[in-house]
Amino acid sequence: MNTDRSHALFTRAQELMPGGVNSPVRAFRSVGGEPFFAARAEGAYIEDVDGNRYLDYVGSWGPMIAGHAHPAVLEAVAKVMRDGLSFGVPNALEVEMAEEVRRLVPSMEMLRMVNSGTEATLSAIRLARGATGRSRIVKFEGCYHGHGDSFLVKAGSGALTFGVPNSPGVPKALADLTLTLPYNDFEAATRLFQEQGADIAGVIVEPIVGNANCILPREGYLQHLRALCTKHGSVLIFDEVMTGFRVALGGAQARYGVTPDLSTFGKIIGGGMPVGAYGGKAELMRQVAPSGPIYQAGTLSGNPVAMAAGLATLKLIQEPGFHETLETRTHRLCDGLEAAAAEAGVAVTTNRSCAMFGLFFSREKVETFAQAVACDTAAYGRFFHGLLRRGVYFAPSAFEAGFLSSAHGDAEIDRTLEAARAAFREVR
Ligand code: PLP
Repeated sequence: MNTDRSHALFTRAQELMPGGVNSPVRAFRSVGGEPFFAARAEGAYIEDVDGNRYLDYVGSWGPMIAGHAHPAVLEAVAKVMRDGLSFGVPNALEVEMAEEVRRLVPSMEMLRMVNSGTEATLSAIRLARGATGRSRIVKFEGCYHGHGDSFLVKAGSGALTFGVPNSPGVPKALADLTLTLPYNDFEAATRLFQEQGADIAGVIVEPIVGNANCILPREGYLQHLRALCTKHGSVLIFDEVMTGFRVALGGAQARYGVTPDLSTFGKIIGGGMPVGAYGGKAELMRQVAPSGPIYQAGTLSGNPVAMAAGLATLKLIQEPGFHETLETRTHRLCDGLEAAAAEAGVAVTTNRSCAMFGLFFSREKVETFAQAVACDTAAYGRFFHGLLRRGVYFAPSAFEAGFLSSAHGDAEIDRTLEAARAAFREVR
């Protein structure tokens, strides 16, 4: 596999950007080697600047649920672009987007569009703090909510991958206001609320933890958090930046039948453009400026190009059977991966939820963050490179979930399993 052009670009990039990248996990540090530089992508495939083609299970970290460069999305963007890229005054597409989101996720009675998942979560906890007059927030070990100061406490994703779950630069006084809990531990949550419930502004949780690979909630766990927040007057925030529109049309809250007070979205809602959203109960959202005193704003928020890409993507995922087909294929892939690993004598388990999955080098089923970090990450690195050499791109970190798109058909899954059979044999 020739990677000369990627290598040359990476050499230049390392002089210019920290680690040669604009977001840490892209640097391949935890799996070793050098990243490839993308030239184009279409459907389930991404092609690098050297002409190598990879079957892609990262999907730009989640947005590309309808496959890369879907013609309907490109067309919608091209059409809107001709009228201008950003206006800084309201436009009709923002209203359409808000109506569409509220129709698909009924708990989003009112919402705000922002430019990233990070902005969405930052804004949501400011609102929780402003509305309750309390300062403490609760997050879960291994959950990642973007790079806002309050969230870089026992964080997942890149922070976990690079061993900096508590980042320097976050003032201790602020970090002290973030209380952390082990995900899926009922007792610990009950205890914390008994002790500090009156000070807790809000609880923010990835309802399925996609930033510590993929950990599913135990039966009744999200309901338990809902009940604790209701009892103690704290705001329950579901961070659905990853799970939103992916694990079901209505997100994890629809899948598990739990209604949060606020939710955050990103990734799919922008169809590949930089977008996020937060929203929920109207009585909370009315406290945001200019209708209320809690400040939040954005120069490019709700810009027509991003709205067009997002709306076109949301339309595609409403085609009949969209999520059902993805779910069937994800099961096929994960069952196949487990069988291929067993054949090779490698201990592997998977977790899955519709169009996302986690592959763990572990003997036991993974239900907690402690189990996720105990997995064999070196084995994952070897497996990752075994796949990459065979033209299949999984996430370059053992702590990131994998994503399927509607362009991943049976032929793609067969190809993946064939590559995985060979890669698992090399892991042993
Ligand atoms: N929340 C979750 C659950 C995420 O997975 C991410 C990013 O991966 C974020 C928030 C931050 O989103 P962004 O990278 O768009 O700022």
